[in-house]
Amino acid sequence: MQLHFIGNEARPGTSGRTLPVIDPSDGQPYDELQRGTPEDVDAAVRSARQCLDAVWSRLSAAERGRLLMRLSAKVAQHADELAAIEQRDCGKPTRQARADAQALVRYFEFYAGACDKLHGETLPYQDGTTVLTWREPHGVTGHVIPWNYPMQIFGRSVGAALAAGNVCVVKPSEDACLSLLRVAQLAAECGFPAGAINIVTGYGHEVGDALARHPGIDHISFTGSPRVGTLIQQAAAERHCPVTLELGGKSPQILFEDADLDEALPVVVQAIIQNAGQTCSAGSRLLVHQPIYEAVLDRLGGVFSNLRVGPAAMDLDVGPLIRASQQQRVWDFLSDAQHAGIPMVAQGQIVEEAPEAGFYQVPTLLRDVPIAHRLAQEEVFGPVLAAMPFKNEDEAVRLANGTAFGLVAGVWTRDGARQLRMARRVRSGQVFINNYGAGGGIELPFGGVKSSGHGREKGFEALYGFTTLKTVAIRHG
Ligand code: NAD
Repeated sequence: MQLHFIGNEARPGTSGRTLPVIDPSDGQPYDELQRGTPEDVDAAVRSARQCLDAVWSRLSAAERGRLLMRLSAKVAQHADELAAIEQRDCGKPTRQARADAQALVRYFEFYAGACDKLHGETLPYQDGTTVLTWREPHGVTGHVIPWNYPMQIFGRSVGAALAAGNVCVVKPSEDACLSLLRVAQLAAECGFPAGAINIVTGYGHEVGDALARHPGIDHISFTGSPRVGTLIQQAAAERHCPVTLELGGKSPQILFEDADLDEALPVVVQAIIQNAGQTCSAGSRLLVHQPIYEAVLDRLGGVFSNLRVGPAAMDLDVGPLIRASQQQRVWDFLSDAQHAGIPMVAQGQIVEEAPEAGFYQVPTLLRDVPIAHRLAQEEVFGPVLAAMPFKNEDEAVRLANGTAFGLVAGVWTRDGARQLRMARRVRSGQVFINNYGAGGGIELPFGGVKSSGHGREKGFEALYGFTTLKTVAIRHG
């Protein structure tokens, strides 16, 4: 039985109710977690505030950095254990679960080193006045985290918030929170003061909503769907609480005729099958220059038909989806595609060892997907790649920008001038040229435009979002 983590203690919730933890590889429950309440959120916020006032705000930036560095080392020692927890909870193939644990090590390391490098400026102003700017923490920050990359998203958002001098109340997803409860324990063992990191588990509409509305929360970092992002922003707007929104994507991979296909195609495939396509920055649309369209589909078709799907522990190309409703969602998209007459190029295979009750979905390559169809517009959040041809650069830009999202784009061309033109013209938070970072790059600022959200996490830039700027003007004659 899992408990909340509040004030460095594992605590039962006030409701006495629990939720099952289900293994996506076999669809069976294997543990329980607390179904949190607004009262539990309140206890966590009070614990955080006490920590902030009595301890955390009195630590120097270097002391915060040392604590984060210790936590990074501790996570490294426990990386296999954390990867195993996340593997079962989320259905991640072994390599992905291990990569996520290593990313967490690196996030804490990066933000440990960043703590004492965040500073303000001295500004020119009237004669006889000195103006300083200070970067101050918001105070108690709330973090609402999805199920697809719990450790990575915790690392980037809680790591940066702590580095900037905040204390945190975290609401992980009801579908995947076990690794984070363990990381919070490890932080306590490293000497993090009681209340610096608090975790309240439960449903979004109960715990997440209470967090977004709580008057003691000074900033909210939300990562999740556009639908819930809107609800969070509305709740936060009631009391003018600042919000960072990291939402979904429909990211294009754009292949020009001069692309190095031997380099590009393995990356294109990985960008849609990684984490079974359940990645906000999945490269889910493939825009291909007309002269190479057939050749590219031919090659990709061969690769897709050989992709194997099965239980997380088998460490195949693709693991299960997170839950039955997500599986149903992907099936609905594919059945819509069939009704619309969208041709299927190839599909992978589910291995015999996969239990019937697991949430499996084969990788699927579709071609000639019209830009207006929902497969080209909406996030499937499964291993489904929608290919479409383009005639020239203008059409590539029009298609790339032709959705409500703008998270990441990949451009594959050897032409240097075109690389820069495309990077300028595509509207998204990140553009990768001749490579693609689906979620990678701890050092690289990350976030969206349009319905992909606003604000930036990762890299040093995140620290600006987790602070507020104070201007101090001193008149000294
Ligand atoms: P979700 O929006 O359903 O849930 C995200 C979190 O919000 C969960 O913890 C959930 O419990 C909570 N929540 C749900 N309803 C709530 C409410 N009414 N008030 C407050 N909190 C609530 O998203 P998901 O299905 O867990 O994750 C998938 C989505 O997340 C996708 O759209 C994906 O693109 C996005 N995502 C974005 C990024 C990014 O960095 N941009 C990263 C990962 C995932």
